[in-house]
Amino acid sequence: MSDRRNRPLSPSTKLAQALRYLDRETGAIVPPIQPSATYARDEDYAVRRSYMYRRDGNPTTEQAEAIIADLEGAVDCMLFSSGMSACMSVIDTLKPGDHVVVPEVMYHGVLQQFQRYAKLHRLEVSYYRPGDLDALRDACRKGKTRLVWVESPNNPDWDVTDIAAAAELAHAAGAKLLTDCTGTPPCATRALELGADFSFHSATKYLNGHSDVTAGALSVRNMDAWWEEIEGHRKLQGTVLQSFDAFLLIRGMRTLTLRYERATLNALRIATHFEGHPQVRKVLYPGLESHPDHDIAKRQTHGMYGGMMSIIVKGDEQAAIDVARFCQLFYPATSLGGVESLIEHRKTVSGEGFKVHPALLRLSIGIEDADDLIADLEQALDRALG
Ligand SMILES: *Cc1c(COP(=O)(O)O)cnc(C)c1O
Repeated sequence: MSDRRNRPLSPSTKLAQALRYLDRETGAIVPPIQPSATYARDEDYAVRRSYMYRRDGNPTTEQAEAIIADLEGAVDCMLFSSGMSACMSVIDTLKPGDHVVVPEVMYHGVLQQFQRYAKLHRLEVSYYRPGDLDALRDACRKGKTRLVWVESPNNPDWDVTDIAAAAELAHAAGAKLLTDCTGTPPCATRALELGADFSFHSATKYLNGHSDVTAGALSVRNMDAWWEEIEGHRKLQGTVLQSFDAFLLIRGMRTLTLRYERATLNALRIATHFEGHPQVRKVLYPGLESHPDHDIAKRQTHGMYGGMMSIIVKGDEQAAIDVARFCQLFYPATSLGGVESLIEHRKTVSGEGFKVHPALLRLSIGIEDADDLIADLEQALDRALG
C-alpha cells in the first residue's frame, strides 16, 4: 500500500490551494494585498524582510512566484509587470555583441526587439525556422552563442519545437536555452524538466486566464550571476509585478488546470470540425493528427494541446478580416488564453515585415460551449465567403 502521507501532491491540487496558503496569524487562506510603496526599518535600523521600496517586490507577488516556481520545478521565479518586460530583462542583460539564435517566426514583440538590437549592433542575431532542429543546429556558433530562444508552440502557425533536443543543441554550443511556452503553460509542458535553462510565460495569457492582468513569469533551473543581473534589472526598471495584479494572478491560477483542460477539449472539437471545411483552406492545430508536429506536441504536452489555433480561410485578406468582423461570440481582440474566445486577423496586428499568411485568423479558444463557438464561426464564414 502506498504511504498516503508521503504522496507528492499533484500540480492541480497545489494550484487549487495556491500552494496551501495559510496566514498563521489570522487563519486566512487567501494571500493579502500589500500595497505599500515604502517599508519602515526596525528599531535597529535594519530592513525587516527583503523590502525597502515598492520596486523590490512584495509578499503577494512572492506567493505568486512560489506557486509558479513549484509548478515549473524551478529554483526561482520572478514575476514582471508584463511578458515583454520579462523578455526585455533577459535581452537587456546580454552583453554587447553576444550571439543569439531565435525563431524567424515568433511572438512579434520579442522578434521586433531582437531585430532592433541587431540593427543597433547590440546583438548578433541568427534565425531558424521554428521546429527545424537542423536549422537551429546550423545557426549555433560554438563558444559564441549565448542564448537560444525557442517559442513552442509558435505564434501564429503553431509549429512545435522539440525542447529536449533544442536544449542539447544549445548546451553543445555552450549556450543557454530559453523557452516561451506561453501557449502550453506548465500544467501541460514543464520546459525546465526537458532541459531548458529559463522558462518564460506571458502570465497575461493562460496562467491568469481572465484578461484582466498583464504579467510575465520567468523561471530558472539554476541560480547564477546572469539570474542575479536580471533581478537587478527588474528592480532598476521598476518592472516587478505589483501586488493587486499578483493577487488576481493567484486567483486566476487556482483554476488553471480546469480552464486549460476545457480549452483543449473545445479546441480539439473546433479544429476537427473545420478541418476539410469547404470555406477553410487549412487548420493549424498541433492537436490534430494531421499536424506535422503532432507526435512531438503530444509528448511535450501530455495531450494537453491547449486552445490556440489558426485557420486560413479560402479567400483573400479582406475575406479573412470579414470573418473576424462578422463573429458575434468570438471577440475581435488580440491576446490569448482567457476564458472567453478571441479571433484575430494576425497580419493586421503584427504589421508589415512579419511572415504570416494574409488569410490567417488566430483563434484563442475559451471555455464556452463548443457548439456555440462552432455555430458562430459557421455563420461568420458563411456571411464572408458564402
Ligand atoms: C503575449 C505574449 C508575449 C508578451 O507578453 P505580454 O504579457 O503581452 O507582454 C510573449 N510571448 C508570447 C508567446 C505571447 O503570447
